[in-house]
Amino acid sequence: METRDLDVAIVGGGLVGCSLACALAPLGLTVGLVDAGGPAPLAQDPRKLALAAASLNALDRLGVLARLPAPPSPIRRIHVSRQGDFGRLLLEAAEFGREAFGGVVLAGDLGAALQQAVAALPGLCVVRGRADPGESGPARRSLRVQPEDGPAETWRARLVVAADGTASPLRAAAGIGIDTHDYGQTLLVTSVRLAAAAPDTAYERLTDHGPCALLPMAGGRHGALCGVASGEAEAVLALDEASFVGFLQARFGWRAGRVLATAGRSAWPLRRVVAQRLVAGRLVLVGNAAQTLHPLGAQGFNLGLRDALALAERIGDGSGDRGGDPGADALLAAHAAARAEDRGRTLAFSDGLARASAGDTPLHRIGRSLGFAALNLDPALRATFAAGAMGFRGPVPRLARDPA
Ligand SMILES: Cc1cc2nc3c(=O)[nH]c(=O)nc-3n(C[C@H](O)[C@H](O)[C@H](O)COP(=O)(O)OP(=O)(O)OC[C@H]3O[C@@H](n4cnc5c(N)ncnc54)[C@H](O)[C@@H]3O)c2cc1C
Repeated sequence: METRDLDVAIVGGGLVGCSLACALAPLGLTVGLVDAGGPAPLAQDPRKLALAAASLNALDRLGVLARLPAPPSPIRRIHVSRQGDFGRLLLEAAEFGREAFGGVVLAGDLGAALQQAVAALPGLCVVRGRADPGESGPARRSLRVQPEDGPAETWRARLVVAADGTASPLRAAAGIGIDTHDYGQTLLVTSVRLAAAAPDTAYERLTDHGPCALLPMAGGRHGALCGVASGEAEAVLALDEASFVGFLQARFGWRAGRVLATAGRSAWPLRRVVAQRLVAGRLVLVGNAAQTLHPLGAQGFNLGLRDALALAERIGDGSGDRGGDPGADALLAAHAAARAEDRGRTLAFSDGLARASAGDTPLHRIGRSLGFAALNLDPALRATFAAGAMGFRGPVPRLARDPA
């Protein structure tokens, strides 16, 4: 069996694993990327992703934005409301001296752009196939890699990065525990045309039945996300167009006008999965393997990208290890400690939005309305909320910072 020695082995070529490969490229390390998914599913993902300003900064510098078929649709306004409560929150990017809080892309377009960027990286070893955990030694951790179209290989890497998604087989094999929460909901994703949506505006609406969001897209369409109790999802997915439009109208209300038409439907179970540790000997978790969030706050990829950027930056700086070993204990411990603030605050934000849907006693409603009112009135709170929406939480990786 062929043995390959690497500085860094990335397991998982989803959005985060590919981003990490791009961020590591300038460091001159020997890097391998193995992905079981193959290019077609990633490039055909129909979801609409809201990318925070910090993510757009980084994806631009990594040469990924230029590969998109169209620029991201800007989000210049964020409107948050709760069905039946009097409060609402309206944030304008201009108020914070910015053009936009971020932008919306088709996940499939971003996946394809990242795959093109990865394919153009000189010297990166990319294998389509499956990696299984091997032994962990003091100097290297090994993987058994089974390519789709060739004989099995052994990879021995100074650092193995688990970018292998929510179920992360590598995380489990390393004995890293998880905390999970089932929201008991399924997120329906579709695209809609609306009669009176304000331009460049993202709407988030919290309802008794679950949260909903509308993300502005090119061509006057909006990506629509709508949480429903898991037991009802199948029936809603099976509705005819007129009934589906009626369902969405009832859930979204009339802030963006009449729902005129929908296109495409998919369903995603809602579960939070948070790893209890980010690192083990010569192993680090990034992206969904590290934490899978409720998608309503549109934070999952944005946070996973910052995991990847922060890791690449630390490896590049050689922090914590004089020999420049990317898998050194001290380097990994410093990385985990540095990620704690962003991770903790982003998890709290996403979970807070999801929970703000729940609880319908008058006390809950008053609490929520007062919360919105406080956010509307207090400039410091508004600035904190806006900075979070733009992906600036905790130490911001250099690639994600605003241009000087
Ligand atoms: C409906 C919905 C809407 C969302 N909207 C947003 C949004 O607006 N903004 C945002 O920032 N985030 C959003 N997210 C979250 C975002 O999609 C995820 O956080 C992100 O895609 C995670 O990427 P990842 O690369 O970490 O994991 P994944 O995409 O799960 O990739 C993991 C990869 O690892 C591979 N793999 C697994 N095991 C192995 C193995 N043993 N060997 C080889 N390969 C392996 C898999 O094939 C896969 O390709 C949303 C999520 C959902 C569900």
